[in-house]
Amino acid sequence: MNDSLENLQDYFKQLRLTETSHELPNLLRKAEQTSWTYREFVQEIVLFELKKREEKSIDKRMKWAKFPYVKTLKEFDLTEQTSLSQRQLSQLEELNWMEEQFNLILLGPPGSGKTHLSISLGIEAIQKGFQVMFVTMGELINLLKTREFTRKSQVLLNRIESSDLVIIDDLMYMAMDQREANLFFHLINRLYERSSIILTSNKSPNEWGELLGDEGITTAILDRLLHRVEIIHLNEDSYRMKHRKSMF
Ligand code: ADP
Ligand code: MG
Repeated sequence: MNDSLENLQDYFKQLRLTETSHELPNLLRKAEQTSWTYREFVQEIVLFELKKREEKSIDKRMKWAKFPYVKTLKEFDLTEQTSLSQRQLSQLEELNWMEEQFNLILLGPPGSGKTHLSISLGIEAIQKGFQVMFVTMGELINLLKTREFTRKSQVLLNRIESSDLVIIDDLMYMAMDQREANLFFHLINRLYERSSIILTSNKSPNEWGELLGDEGITTAILDRLLHRVEIIHLNEDSYRMKHRKSMF
């Protein structure tokens, strides 16, 4: 019963409680200093390991999400974006819409905060335990077209298809040919009713038809995307323009 501290730490490692193993000297010191009861001591050890695991899992999912940058909802300034109320933002933050498998469409001109808002909501989702993936429309089409012969595309698309939330940024930025529109439709079909989608676009859905070309496919895609959807129009007021750095 009188093993050295190193041995004890090693036992924790063997049980795959690596984080606790490292922290053990500190935990023991604190237990002595604050005279924890046996029960408190056990609780502190278990909670420490759980907290570390949670942090690691969030880190892992943040990496997986492939956000182009990390900006939170706290950094989203509503005085700069008057088309959204605090109440609406709080509702989005609660993520009930995700649990009900609603999609979000964020519309607005360049610089109006679409990408920022989508990333922030993605971060919220990750913190609540969801798996999220961010992809631009251009990247997505490229992945779909190379799926059959590129291992990397397969891996990323599998990840997209198993995500609870898929963010597709800058939809309809580019015109698609028939094959691309078809591939996109099949992806949306696979995600439909399984995950939530956030789409950002500077064109409104009634203009998407021109870019998708085929009317039948456009209707089928819109059907699924708009079945359960919240559409948010962000203001003209461009944050980027107002805050742009000037040389003069
Ligand atoms: P969009 O995707 O609509 O073109 P972005 O989301 O990329 O625009 O926003 C451009 C830049 O402006 C980003 O750095 C973003 O963080 C910032 N920004 C835009 N709107 C806001 C806002 N309401 N509050 C804080 N930063 C904002
Ligand atoms: Mg953007």
